Amino acid sequence: MGDLLNLDLEQKAVGVREQLLAALRDHGRVVYSNSLGAEAMVLTDIIWTHVPEIDIFSIDTGRLPQETYDLMEKLERRYKRSLHLVFPDAQALQQLVSAQGINGFYHSLDARLACCRVRKVEPFKRAIQGYTAWVTGVRREQSAARAQAQPVEWDAEHGLYKVSPLLDWSETEIWQYIRARKLPYNSLHDRQFPSIGCFPCTRAIQPGESRRAGRWWWEQPESRECGLHPRVRHAAAQA
Ligand code: SF4
Repeated sequence: MGDLLNLDLEQKAVGVREQLLAALRDHGRVVYSNSLGAEAMVLTDIIWTHVPEIDIFSIDTGRLPQETYDLMEKLERRYKRSLHLVFPDAQALQQLVSAQGINGFYHSLDARLACCRVRKVEPFKRAIQGYTAWVTGVRREQSAARAQAQPVEWDAEHGLYKVSPLLDWSETEIWQYIRARKLPYNSLHDRQFPSIGCFPCTRAIQPGESRRAGRWWWEQPESRECGLHPRVRHAAAQA
C-alpha cells in the first residue's frame, strides 16, 4: 500500500482487502459494481491492485457526464486494463424514450424510476447473473437509509450476497486515500458534486446540503435511490 497512507488508513485498507478475500472464499464468484464515484476509486484501486479475482463492471446509462467518460479513460490508462461496461438493452431503451420522451424522467416519479429501471437496474441485473456476491462502495454516512447497512447482507431483491467493505469509512478517509495514492477521480468532485450519476439527474450541492442532495433534487429525499440499493421501500423502485 502507498507510503503516504497513515497507519490508521493503511489498516483500514488492509481490512477492506481482507473483507474482499473473505467474500471470495465464502461466496466464490464476486463482482464489483463500480459506480465511478470517489469510493469507487478506493475499491477499484484495492481490487485491481490486490484482489483481481473480483470482476468489475460499470453501467453506461448513456446519460453520463463527459467527466465520467474521461475518468474511465484515466482508470484504463493507470491500471492498463479495460473497464467492462454494461449498457441498457437497446430495444427497451427505444421503447422507453418513445413512451416518455427524451427527458421524460423529469415528468413524474414513476417516469424517473422507469428510466432508472431501463438504464441502470436491468443492466445491473444482467451484469450480476452467475455471481454469488456483489461488492458495493456504500458508506453509512451517505444517507439515513445506508446508515442501516451491514458489511455482508443477503440481497433478497437480487438473490445474492451484498458486500459493503467501506461502510465505516468517512468521506475524509476516502479522500485521504485518493490523495495519498494519487488516484484519478471525477473532476466534477472539485465543483461541488460529491455524488455523481447521470448528468441530467445530478447537480452541484450548496454549502450545508447533504452530499446526496444533488441527486434527483426535485424529488422527496425518501425516493432518491435508483433501485440498486432498495432499502427504501417504494413499490416502483423494487422492479
Ligand atoms: S439517473 Fe436520470 S437519466 Fe439516469 S437512469 Fe435514472 S432517471 Fe434516467
